[in-house]
Amino acid sequence: MQEYDAIVVGSGISGGWAAKELCEKGLKTLVLERGPNVEHIKDYKTASMDPWEFKYHLANPMSDVAESPIQSRVYNQGSKHFFVNDSQHPYIQDTPFSWVRGYQVGGRSLTWGRQCYRWSDLDFEANAKDGHGVDWPIRYKDIAPWYDYVEQYIGVSGNLEGLPQLPDGKFLPPFDLNCVEADFAQKTKAKYKDRIVTIARVANLSRGWNGRGPCQSRNLCERGCPFSGYFSSNAATLPAAALTGNLTMIPNSVVVSLIWDAKKSKVTGVTVIDAETKQTREYFAKIIFLNASTINTAAILLRSVTKEHPNGIGNASGQVGKNLMDHFTFSGAKGEHPGLKDNYYQGRRAFGIYVPRFRNLGPDSMRTDYVRGFGYQGAGQRLGWNEKMGADDFGAGFKESISTPGPWEMILGTYGETLPNEKNGITFDKDKKDQWGLPILHISLEYGDNENAMRQDGIKTAVEMLEAAGMKNVSIMDYRNPPGSAVHEMGTARMGRDPKTSVLNEHNQLHEAKNVFITDGACMSSSGCQNPSLTYMALTARACDFAVSELKKMNL
Ligand SMILES: Cc1cc2nc3c(=O)[nH]c(=O)nc-3n(C[C@H](O)[C@H](O)[C@H](O)COP(=O)(O)OP(=O)(O)OC[C@H]3O[C@@H](n4cnc5c(N)ncnc54)[C@H](O)[C@@H]3O)c2cc1C
Repeated sequence: MQEYDAIVVGSGISGGWAAKELCEKGLKTLVLERGPNVEHIKDYKTASMDPWEFKYHLANPMSDVAESPIQSRVYNQGSKHFFVNDSQHPYIQDTPFSWVRGYQVGGRSLTWGRQCYRWSDLDFEANAKDGHGVDWPIRYKDIAPWYDYVEQYIGVSGNLEGLPQLPDGKFLPPFDLNCVEADFAQKTKAKYKDRIVTIARVANLSRGWNGRGPCQSRNLCERGCPFSGYFSSNAATLPAAALTGNLTMIPNSVVVSLIWDAKKSKVTGVTVIDAETKQTREYFAKIIFLNASTINTAAILLRSVTKEHPNGIGNASGQVGKNLMDHFTFSGAKGEHPGLKDNYYQGRRAFGIYVPRFRNLGPDSMRTDYVRGFGYQGAGQRLGWNEKMGADDFGAGFKESISTPGPWEMILGTYGETLPNEKNGITFDKDKKDQWGLPILHISLEYGDNENAMRQDGIKTAVEMLEAAGMKNVSIMDYRNPPGSAVHEMGTARMGRDPKTSVLNEHNQLHEAKNVFITDGACMSSSGCQNPSLTYMALTARACDFAVSELKKMNL
């Protein structure tokens, strides 16, 4: 029997960080990943293909929509191979829920949108103040140095704004706003004292950084970047872990459950099914990091049923699998800019603008109809650009049409906070099994009055802001895509102060098994309104530091 110092389950954004930190601190670390290997650059098979080189031009054929109705809403033919096939990985939607997944080495770090925003004490104190969910056992000061640490490694480009609700980070130089965004930013600043428009903070490298990049602004990130121009596990953390000589990576390993040793009264390893041969194996280690992503990590705990843990290891509180959250998006407004018609831009850019939260910050901004808040993500672009790109994106006529000055539009999309609610979560089907013999999941997440009131305010306020900046023909967007569509699912094994009402303590340790750490989105006690992955990375680096120091003290 080979025993490792550490096992990391999953190699996506948070698992890649756990692998790097543990390996660099000298631990012989085994990473178990359920999907196949994706080697940086070599396996980015579509990275430099032009639209006309794809059979359907990049568009998804109806057969894809039938086989993969959820994932095909997110991928195109250039990135399809980095998403699961829904038919092969079924789940049951008790209420509509889009579960967007990428099962491969690197997970969704290959396809993510790269927006990186810090949380503040506004977020860490929210549960305690308004009584939804349980109090976070940490505050901003506990995580701030770890935000510094991960930002300095991954490389986040952005502007310093000095806002308490969206703390500044250690940024690389920002990318530029385009002309309509700059105009919108200037007019917003003139009109509103309480809000700003800033360039999106993204893990795209505005200059060469740690041997990677710079970003070439190709806007093809979701295919994998041969220039290492954005942060992914494959480009950054996994190679760093491998460089130490301490990493063992075994792809195609579906982790089923934790192994409980009743004599030692502790978790000693994990059980795995080989994704291809379907054979069962066991691996053992002193500490275990679960980073299989929010829903899969909760499923591993719920499958870890023992005599001592009839509801699954870590689940004495009954909270595992509950409190599932996702940001609500796809609502807002857009409007036409009446000027700037002598401007056009060439080339591409992989992101747009951000309007940080300005609701419920203090006495001047309190709402009576909802708690918490939202931010806007958006962009200024040539009017009708998306339609054009879809329908007619090659040839001399197309080239001329996009390089000729013309009208612009500005779009604002709401990213709103979802409250933790025990009713939202996952359970197992009693009869149905997947191809590995594991029970199929039921998922449900419904937005409540708070989210609905916030959504309406987000739409109304977007209209007001666009009109105040002089946009014409402003129209609302209210697509009401199912929860899950923001791909920010979190909350199914929350941190808390009390083992009776939470699953993890302030160090991301299971209250019930101190050598098991969870640092993916499952650990989140609330959802904030900022994109969450930067916080998962910072919590992971922090928990690794703690785990190794506890190991050295023989406390685990
Ligand atoms: C299109 C898109 C845009 C996004 N944009 C942003 C953004 O702008 N900003 C942001 O913060 N976030 C964004 N996200 C979300 C972001 O990708 C996730 O928050 C992040 O990847 C979560 O990291 P993770 O480590 O928890 O999970 P993942 O990155 O999903 O990795 C989990 C890994 O675990 C593996 N795994 C699962 N189950 C098992 C098992 N039983 N055994 C072994 N391995 C297992 C999976 O195969 C996978 O490799 C976006 C996601 C998508 C798809």
